[in-house]
Amino acid sequence: MKVFLASANAKKVLEMQRILAEHVPGIEVLGIGDVEGYVEPVEDEPTFAGNALLKARAGVAATGLPSVADDSGLCVDALNGMPGVLSARWSGRVVGDKRSVDARNNELLLDQLHDVPDGRRGAHFACAVAWVLPDGRERVVEGRMDGRIIREQRGSGGFGYDVVFVAVEHDAEDLTSAELGPGEKDLISHRGRALRELAPYVAADLSDAGSRD
Ligand code: IMP
Repeated sequence: MKVFLASANAKKVLEMQRILAEHVPGIEVLGIGDVEGYVEPVEDEPTFAGNALLKARAGVAATGLPSVADDSGLCVDALNGMPGVLSARWSGRVVGDKRSVDARNNELLLDQLHDVPDGRRGAHFACAVAWVLPDGRERVVEGRMDGRIIREQRGSGGFGYDVVFVAVEHDAEDLTSAELGPGEKDLISHRGRALRELAPYVAADLSDAGSRD
């Protein structure tokens, strides 16, 4: 029941391991530290689905194991859907800047939205998860989480843009995704939704493979 999770983002890996383990009994999720030879491919596809497939296919090629990978990002209405697939590297590669990439991305985003009024700060997180089997079968599922961008950074949970994002489900309490417990975020998150849709297929494919061994 081993699968390879092709991601170098430790916090994202934790979320994915937690959700998969809850929905696919017996699954053993290996990360990049558990295998040799996986090199993250350059994410040069224009869509989340395309990039997720690139990573999962590279995972199968490196490990021979069924592989799962996500590609995700924040799409801001007032920025015509950007940063989108560029979310991880929105503030560029700044040499000598001691702040974390997440801190720089969030500061840049808040600055860009400084003059955008409260009624036009809508945004959503999008996620595509690819599942690729060594025999070449592939499946991609997608999920999203709708909400808005606030004007400051709040909270210490999650990662990335969670500190500036309030999901519609938590609009009344005005809680950012970084102020939610891990289980609370999984319930409504783009990644949680996509992985819960994928889980029955993963369970079925792994049990087929197990019964053939
Ligand atoms: P990827 O590794 O190319 O998929 O990068 C996704 C980037 O999108 C992350 O580095 C974050 O900046 C952002 N992102 C994706 N999902 C989330 C989330 O659940 N919370 C906050 N930021 C996220």
